[in-house]
Amino acid sequence: MRYIEPHAHMVSRTTDDYTALAVAGCKAVCEPAFWAGFDRSSAAGFRDYFCQLTEHEPNRAAKFGLRHFCWLCINPKEAEDLMLADDVLALIPEFLERDNVLGIGEIGLNKNSRNELTVLEKHIDLAARTNQLILVHTPHLEDKYKGTRLIIDLIAGDSRIDPGRVLIDHVEEHTAKMVLDAGFWGGITLYPESKCTAPRAIDILENFGLDRLWMNSACDWGVSVPLAVPYAALEMRRRGYGEKTIDTVFYENPVRFLSQCPNFSL
Ligand SMILES: [Zn+2]
Repeated sequence: MRYIEPHAHMVSRTTDDYTALAVAGCKAVCEPAFWAGFDRSSAAGFRDYFCQLTEHEPNRAAKFGLRHFCWLCINPKEAEDLMLADDVLALIPEFLERDNVLGIGEIGLNKNSRNELTVLEKHIDLAARTNQLILVHTPHLEDKYKGTRLIIDLIAGDSRIDPGRVLIDHVEEHTAKMVLDAGFWGGITLYPESKCTAPRAIDILENFGLDRLWMNSACDWGVSVPLAVPYAALEMRRRGYGEKTIDTVFYENPVRFLSQCPNFSL
């Protein structure tokens, strides 16, 4: 099979993981800026991270025949410090010109706090002013429903943003409908702790359709499975789906969304 890994934090992964992705048929890996597993102490730490995402990681991926793309932002987990957030937001425009950048992400909410919302609004404004695609992280567990609702209302309320250019990630059974009904794309995250298993993810596809959904592993520095996407394809095959449908979900859909960014090519 061929597939796209649309959400993976490769800076935390080993070269063995790159080999495994390439062998499994991955054609491109997309890396949203996120929490590094620890809080960075200054904007300079983010500048180094953005260099890692736009210079070093694409070179590392290329050694395994993989295209590497990234998204830029200060993530909601580090957005409580409004001064730090402003300093990082000021860094982003110069990096948006780099040729593997897909847009602004993964922005969103973690604990649905006032400061997180303020920083989310500033990112949405930046994306609108610079005509960038948006990738959104939604909170987990008990914060997910309310957080997803807040995010949808905020983005849908900005007439400059086309919802077809926004992907809201980590949707589950109780949030997929509101995301799709509002015209956004949805991402289903396959993750061993919290988030979705493969059977649940396929159930969501069966309930809400294949049209504007993709799947990702979100593999990072925690317990996660870099091959979760092809494992989900295996689950679809087990349920009797043909290769054409599997290709639509795991390759054509992410390519269709990402191709809205002129930097995305295979
Ligand atoms: Zn992530």
